[in-house]
Amino acid sequence: MLSAGAPVAVVGAGAAGLVAIRVLREAGFRVVCFEASNEVGGTWVYADVNKVPDWAGHDVALRNEPGGDDRRGSPSPSHSSPLHSSMYQSLRTNLPKQVMLFPGMPFPDAAPSFPGHVEVQRYLLRYAERHAVRDHIRFETPVQEVRPVSSRALDGYVVRYACRQRPDEVREEWYAAVCVCNGHYTVPYVPSHDSRSVHQVDDESKEDAGRGIVEHLTDGTFAPGRIHHSHFYRQPTRYAQQRVLCLGAGPSGIDISLDVARVAARPVYLSFHGSMPAACVSALRRAGVQPVAALTAVTGPRQVRLADGTQLDDLDVILLCTGYRYAFPFLADACEVRVQHGGRVVTPLYRHLLPVHRPNLPLVGLPYSVVPFPLFEYQMRYVCRVLSGAIRLPSESAMRQDTREEWRARTALGMAPRHFHRLGDRQWAYDRYLADAAGVKGPTLAAQSVYNDAGTSRKANPVLYREREYRIFGDGPEDWEVAITVA
Ligand code: FAD
Repeated sequence: MLSAGAPVAVVGAGAAGLVAIRVLREAGFRVVCFEASNEVGGTWVYADVNKVPDWAGHDVALRNEPGGDDRRGSPSPSHSSPLHSSMYQSLRTNLPKQVMLFPGMPFPDAAPSFPGHVEVQRYLLRYAERHAVRDHIRFETPVQEVRPVSSRALDGYVVRYACRQRPDEVREEWYAAVCVCNGHYTVPYVPSHDSRSVHQVDDESKEDAGRGIVEHLTDGTFAPGRIHHSHFYRQPTRYAQQRVLCLGAGPSGIDISLDVARVAARPVYLSFHGSMPAACVSALRRAGVQPVAALTAVTGPRQVRLADGTQLDDLDVILLCTGYRYAFPFLADACEVRVQHGGRVVTPLYRHLLPVHRPNLPLVGLPYSVVPFPLFEYQMRYVCRVLSGAIRLPSESAMRQDTREEWRARTALGMAPRHFHRLGDRQWAYDRYLADAAGVKGPTLAAQSVYNDAGTSRKANPVLYREREYRIFGDGPEDWEVAITVA
């Protein structure tokens, strides 16, 4: 239990870090946030990338770790070099602004229901200003290490960080708790042989699209064809007239293949595991994207084979839209946080948030297939009450048991282990649990209904779903309406 005024560090000033600063400060803690870059917003800070490394080239930092598991996730990208986000130029949100918002802070009325990334970044800047969080952020200070002082969590942590302005200076400071908000969309993931698939059509298909192909991608067989990852994708121009195969049909894979199809040789192939509704296939085809079976092998220069036996020749680029890995390269081994299942699962955690033996080292924002901004707020409000002692956690063994039961229940439903942090429909119960425990209002049924409607229409027509404009006028499940702006 920490007393008011105790020093708490936050790593990262993306959306999660901004919320963490605000909520911790309101709870009376002394907050210092370390941010590697020179701006707030993380994912939403768009940056041009001039060099796109080839996956099969020399940049081994981009490859998965052998075996896929390691103690803290991939050691790269280097925590001493600047990170860039995975934001691309044409991105519009895949969640309606009426749902995506932080509780109590709407997006501007003038913004469409699915705003572009610039609008979201402005929104985060306004949030930072409204809650005066900037004063607590030290920019250009990448955290190099978070090290427990002793085996007792209560003794706190030493944070070692660098100052970009004075690269030779490395400093260390003590904090009673550290909130880890370093983001989970910058270290590329490619399915390896250790990934097992589930046969489902939804966002998971991005991970299953080419399971087991990482080995084929790194041995140079595809050369002179190039292999890129969506982390480096900014705009389609470099793919003009090229024959492109996008791998993975998650939200980014679909959006990027549509973006590329504006300039590339048509069709752009979209390879994924499973099936798609016929309406979705037709909509994609009309836009120049051809859904095809999962990639099973790279069979030669610019040549691949698909699960249904089809061979595709003369490809110029395979664009991997296969998602990202969790990585905490700065957590010392003594923190005992492990990243498993090919970088997709973090253990041992209670409620996808608190290391069971170190609840004062929360890992914020791990769940995916969720509405992230409000989830960050519920998590952080819960964390504050845990830190202040207002919430008494169960014993360590009871927390482990709770997590084991969740594993068991979800495995019984057919969940692949690596999807443990994928909450989907479970997010509402999760959010409400945290919000109730923290004594704040949880998500409304109206927000839940709008989220469901947007998801359903995205699956039916990924080309046009953003033409829907939502309005929420109450909390109940029926208290919303939608107008469709395009026939
Ligand atoms: P980030 O935004 O990644 O922020 C992490 C911060 O930590 C960064 O500023 C980074 O510089 C800093 N950092 C990392 N390591 C260190 C270190 N060692 N020391 C100091 N600082 C460090 N969400 C939605 O709600 N709607 C959408 O439509 C949507 N679209 C998306 C599209 C794309 C392409 C991607 C990649 C993500 C999208 N998301 C979307 C998810 C989005 O990432 C989350 O909404 C949210 O922005 C994540 O915030 P975060 O703070 O957890 O992480």
